[in-house]
Amino acid sequence: MASDTPFFHEGELVGVLTTQPLDRLLDYKAPEGGCWQGAYVEVPLGPRKVMGVVWGAGRGDFDYSKVRSVSRVLDTAPMAEEMRQFLGRAADYTLTPMPAMLRLATRNPGLGDPPALRTVYRLGDAEPDRMTSAREKVLAVLEEYGGLSFTLGELAEMAGVGTSVIKGLVKQGVVNEEAAPRDGPYATLDPDHGAKALTADQLAGAEVLRAGVRSGKYGTTLLRGVTGSGKTEVYLEAVAECLRAGRQVLVLLPEIALSAEFLARVEARFGGMPAEWHSGVTMTERRRAWKMVSDGQARMVVGARSALFLPFRDLGLIVVDEEHDTSYKQEDGVLYNARDMAVLRASINDAQVVLASATPSLESWANVEQGKYRRVELTSRFGEAVMPDMRAIDMRDEDLPGSAWISPSLQKAVEARLERGEQSLLFLNRRGYAPVTVCRACGHQIGCDQCDARMVEHRFLKRLMCHQCGETKPMPTKCPSCEAEDKLAPVGPGVERLAEEAVARFPDAKVVVLSSDLYGTARQLKAVIEEIAAGGADIIIGTQLVAKGHNFPKLTLVGVIDSDLGLQGSDLRAAERTFQLMRQVAGRAGRSEAKGEALLQTFQPEHPVIRAILGGDEEAFWMAEAAERKAAGVPPYGRMAGIVLSSPDVQVCFDLGNHLARHDGPLRRIGAQVFGPAPAPIARIRGRHRVRLLVKADKGAPIQAALAEWAAQVRLKGETRMAIDIDPQSF
Ligand code: ADP
Ligand code: ZN
Repeated sequence: MASDTPFFHEGELVGVLTTQPLDRLLDYKAPEGGCWQGAYVEVPLGPRKVMGVVWGAGRGDFDYSKVRSVSRVLDTAPMAEEMRQFLGRAADYTLTPMPAMLRLATRNPGLGDPPALRTVYRLGDAEPDRMTSAREKVLAVLEEYGGLSFTLGELAEMAGVGTSVIKGLVKQGVVNEEAAPRDGPYATLDPDHGAKALTADQLAGAEVLRAGVRSGKYGTTLLRGVTGSGKTEVYLEAVAECLRAGRQVLVLLPEIALSAEFLARVEARFGGMPAEWHSGVTMTERRRAWKMVSDGQARMVVGARSALFLPFRDLGLIVVDEEHDTSYKQEDGVLYNARDMAVLRASINDAQVVLASATPSLESWANVEQGKYRRVELTSRFGEAVMPDMRAIDMRDEDLPGSAWISPSLQKAVEARLERGEQSLLFLNRRGYAPVTVCRACGHQIGCDQCDARMVEHRFLKRLMCHQCGETKPMPTKCPSCEAEDKLAPVGPGVERLAEEAVARFPDAKVVVLSSDLYGTARQLKAVIEEIAAGGADIIIGTQLVAKGHNFPKLTLVGVIDSDLGLQGSDLRAAERTFQLMRQVAGRAGRSEAKGEALLQTFQPEHPVIRAILGGDEEAFWMAEAAERKAAGVPPYGRMAGIVLSSPDVQVCFDLGNHLARHDGPLRRIGAQVFGPAPAPIARIRGRHRVRLLVKADKGAPIQAALAEWAAQVRLKGETRMAIDIDPQSF
């Protein structure tokens, strides 16, 4: 505990922030034994007890004798002052109420549990006297998670049954229980274990990063280098330096499917496993990670964006890998961009940030340009590997029937790989069999009942799926509109359909589809990826999942089936996204000795974005993009924010939106413009309509205060909701 942290003696008034949706701190009396500022506590609220954090001194504006006492101080190190500052500033930036921020920071299922409540449950030897569906559910959960520790309530929740079902099974010896062991510590990570000899280029970069870490001050570095140039090796050197300094490290990855490969690398480099934090981590593991991060025992965490809200004791370095990735933007609940929040957190913690990417975001480029970030470049690929040759296949010249997508030119290139025993990747960013299912009798297209989206056929699953809300239904045999039998036909390509075509064209090749929906668990996906890496596939058909960092040494050809896919629509970021995705995908080819080739099927080879992708002059592309954004006054050269109104009734959304548009005084005062209301990019989801207003302001404009004042002019009734999105992804 820092020596200047305030301590409150028994009976002194403290202000407690709770996770309940209240707009102020609540006063309580410090409990027997007192408490530190930052202490995690349980307090009485009405008839209930709720969790909270002692945020400061109480206000004392109530009759002291009526103020209740803190019920209990939780057995956890108090929240660090820097963390409290971080939550406060993140709340101000994203216009999020503090209780919601605190909920993000306390996603620890065991916070407040006495450890004694935890039990290890396992399948026992006895058979149940009779089987019920509830009992089956419990056994199924233990089949997968047996041997991990839970509270009785957690296990019941996971199985979706009452606790009595579990107690009954324990009584009969079908399920065994034993007291949970205390959490084991994390392995000690040795900064000098498994260090690699770096190339001159890499060494120079590593030294810049290491010097940053040694400074013990805040700084952000953009680490840019083509795929395979050794960015990971280089930032692992910064991690090593931070471990030497005795401070904690957080590495953020955009995709949890990547983490297994990455963890193996960390283990090889530091001789031990770091802590893991993402949605695929079990509750037991989460509890352990949260606690040990808070104690400072866990030195390194590898995680998804939510790991930013872990209670680090002394965070010295945050790495954001693939920093341009759009999945760093949280689009649900609290709307934040983990990359930006990483920079905020680091600046409060005197920590360093490394943003790594082969294709940085325009935001990061602009920050380098303005001198806010340092820049480290790795210009060549490691070893013999070189960037692939990139060429367009002009689809206007290819002789191809309407329901086929592999052009003769691409086919030839794949055949050449098959002869040489090398791998090819056919990339199509569309999950499922076909994006549209249409009735040939009446022209009806099957849509989702709850969203403005088409249902996508998934032939392996024999179902239609809405990619917006995830709803599925069995593939109908009759048209839902005209009831004609056997007239439903797939239109357009999805990866499953492409795989069908590949199997027909290359009958002797082993074809594997890599798409997130085909593998139920991260473990299955990992197994498939390992099999591919070991050479167990000739042709890989993949969605954007393959664009992210997997290393397939025998892959020498990448064929992009539809390079024009991302260029339609009016989104100002479309060019940036397409450019990043295509360069990332192309970078999968030729990661070892054999030179790679990337072929882009396109109907518009003269399109400036396609030309830039092929030309490979990234700086020129970014400069042209930057000039356009500057001219339009949009991010990163201007500020944008969105207000999304949602309701089951679209008219309610538009009425409120129009009201806001008419009363734009607070925004006009800061020189901002309001556009809309218009249907949001996702116009309807799960039965709720969404209408958006966009706000555009100068870079330095005090946009948060103006937005708060503006938004406060509408009263939300019933099921209507409003979300404020600072720095929206699409505009
Ligand atoms: P990036 O993160 O830029 O895609 P990686 O760090 O994954 O690049 O490096 C690509 C491959 O080259 C990896 O297999 C990595 O282990 C290897 N590699 C890179 N630099 C070195 C080095 N200095 N010594 C040994 N292997 C290296
Ligand atoms: Zn839907």
